[in-house]
Amino acid sequence: MKLSVRFAPSPTGRLHIGNIRTAVLNYLLARKAGGTFLLRLDDTDRERSTEEFAEGIRTDLRWLGLAWDREERQSARFARYTEVADALKASGRLYACYESEDELDKKRKRQLARGLPPIYDRAGLKLTGDEKASLEAEGRRPHWRFRLPNTDPAGGLLAPEPTIVSWNDLVRGDQTVDLGSLSDPVLIREDATPLYTFTSVVDDVDFAITHVVRGEDHVTNTGVQIAIFEALGAAPPAFGHHSLLIGADGHALSKRLGTLSVETFRSDGLEPMAVVSHASLLGTSDAIEPHRHIEELAELFDLAKVSTAPARFDPAELRTLNAKLLHKEPYEDVAERLAALGVGGGATFWEAVRGNVGVLAEARDWWDIATSDIDPVIENAELTARAADLLPPEPWDAGTWGAWTAEVGKATGAKGRALFHPLRLALTGRDSGPELKALLPFIGHPRAASRLRG
Ligand code: GLU
Repeated sequence: MKLSVRFAPSPTGRLHIGNIRTAVLNYLLARKAGGTFLLRLDDTDRERSTEEFAEGIRTDLRWLGLAWDREERQSARFARYTEVADALKASGRLYACYESEDELDKKRKRQLARGLPPIYDRAGLKLTGDEKASLEAEGRRPHWRFRLPNTDPAGGLLAPEPTIVSWNDLVRGDQTVDLGSLSDPVLIREDATPLYTFTSVVDDVDFAITHVVRGEDHVTNTGVQIAIFEALGAAPPAFGHHSLLIGADGHALSKRLGTLSVETFRSDGLEPMAVVSHASLLGTSDAIEPHRHIEELAELFDLAKVSTAPARFDPAELRTLNAKLLHKEPYEDVAERLAALGVGGGATFWEAVRGNVGVLAEARDWWDIATSDIDPVIENAELTARAADLLPPEPWDAGTWGAWTAEVGKATGAKGRALFHPLRLALTGRDSGPELKALLPFIGHPRAASRLRG
């Protein structure tokens, strides 16, 4: 069977480093196996989901280069969910419950007070047709719970059945969830809208999803969902749960994720492949290196390399990775963007400065330093004035710097840092930067002479 995965964000916000990681892992799994990557918009929550966020997610995925083969949205599938829910109602796996939130809360408190786990007591299951009719006559509408395949904690209504669900997790190895410790989940709300736990399974069956890769916050859901797959007569897919991200300080990232969005990375000028490289290698046994092509990452990819320990995300590391990526970026691949930034000098200039930029736009700073007015810094006026006198006539090339500084050294007796530092400060106004042998021809004689003279 062809491998098929899905990335299922809710369009209630934009993508951030946490869900990019899920997207990237799914994408690479599909890519490596020649399978399909489905974008599923989990938009059953009509109040919080917006078309603007859906479009934002598409924009983010496109920018990252994570092309999807197919898109589905849950809001278009309500009829299908109703159909499947009706079948589960008919078979008794979905049962009507009438408690209000308040009543449920009271039940839980009573259980806790008696030292019992706050598991739903399946009161709904025991209602007779008359009792249901009279509750509905009071104006109550039912919500629907899925009867988990476990023994009834209250009255032994059900024959004892196995309560442990297990699977071999692609990341975490053997996993078990004890359904006996869980309440029967509500799958259909009072207003008849279906909940994620249910819709996700219906979709995974209908779209023939073979592998579900998601965060470890879904491990318990997986236990419940495997039971739902079975109730639907479907074989569950393989599951892999990656660990969640923590910040550099070791604390959960969840509250800070909004500022770690694809949108912010893009507006900060980061390269999509730096973000994708970081997201895919973070928390794996591979070194975090920049890769220029997603195929290279697909080549390396193996879910077994993903660690079960929380992965530490430090935005400063992402910026360092971005710089490393640019350091090996060939001119042809950035030529158009450099032109748009107003950076000239072709491949020679790019190769001169690429080792000194953190984001591409900084190439423009070096272009301005080479070709516009700057404030030179004069550290040793005697030396730099003498150096100005010794500047050879143009044309200049990469050999000019070496020949000229040798002359200046001879004439002044300065060498090493005492020679080069004042020249750099005068010529660029900066303490450090690209090799001057590459930059000098772009500065040219008139600017170089005037800078050296202060
Ligand atoms: N919409 C769900 C979420 O973002 C999808 C989880 C899943 O992959 O099943 O948490």
